[in-house]
Amino acid sequence: MTSAAAGTEKPSDEPDSTTPMISLSQVEKHFGDLHVLQDINIEVPRGQVVIVVGPSGSGKSTLCRTINRLEPIDSGEIRVDGTVLPAEGKALAKLRSDVGMVFQSFNLFAHKTILENVTLGPLKVRKMKKDQAREAALQLLERVGIANQADKYPAQLSGGQQQRVAIARALAMNPKVMLFDEPTSALDPEMVQEVLDVMTSLAKEGMTMVVVTHEMGFARKAGDRVLFMADGRIVEDTDPETFFTSPSSDRAKDFLGKIL
Ligand code: ADP
Ligand code: MG
Repeated sequence: MTSAAAGTEKPSDEPDSTTPMISLSQVEKHFGDLHVLQDINIEVPRGQVVIVVGPSGSGKSTLCRTINRLEPIDSGEIRVDGTVLPAEGKALAKLRSDVGMVFQSFNLFAHKTILENVTLGPLKVRKMKKDQAREAALQLLERVGIANQADKYPAQLSGGQQQRVAIARALAMNPKVMLFDEPTSALDPEMVQEVLDVMTSLAKEGMTMVVVTHEMGFARKAGDRVLFMADGRIVEDTDPETFFTSPSSDRAKDFLGKIL
């Protein structure tokens, strides 16, 4: 056998810089009779910021949740950095920690301090040493602008600050991908921008991100790509400028007419 032929037999799922960071192929999912995800095919290259928009109930949250297997799929395949997510067990916990997720509700542990909220994952899942976890957490809190609140409890912080802690907590696991599911929609309007600013800087630093949001300013500034979902399908897949100025489908025109 020639070495060239041997080269072609290398396992194709060895990740390299050209491997998509996220790939979904022919993904199908039902909730009972509801076909919530229909033939979803997406490849997200490293560093891409994907904005997901669409009417309520179109499957945006379910799509996010399948990417780290918070929701199982019926068929199809999901890969993160070239690796198929296992269905369960320790390998799943490890791979799941490669995917950080930030939800609409901040989901911080109320009885733990801000610092403890951020160090918990690294201590438990990453088995990091205490001093190292603390050091890393303080740096992350600095990065999201709340290092001086480290010893407070979540209830003592504003919604915008809590959501920035939630971002720091996800980043503490050193994820390859960050998923954001309507991260600003539960916030008072004056706090939206401070969270979007943190997300914008994360995008600029090259993080691969999937962001469900209707914040058009953010989508246009930080987004590389827009997926428009309706009834469990991806109806449009284009760049933000095209989507917001000249959507091609009637569904998207109708949707934009309601939110703009
Ligand atoms: P979106 O985030 O776009 O608003 P979701 O992904 O939350 O949409 O929901 C898509 C559809 O799936 C909705 O009709 C919703 O009611 C339904 N759904 C979501 N989660 C569940 C569940 N755990 N069980 C049954 N139906 C669900
Ligand atoms: Mg949702």
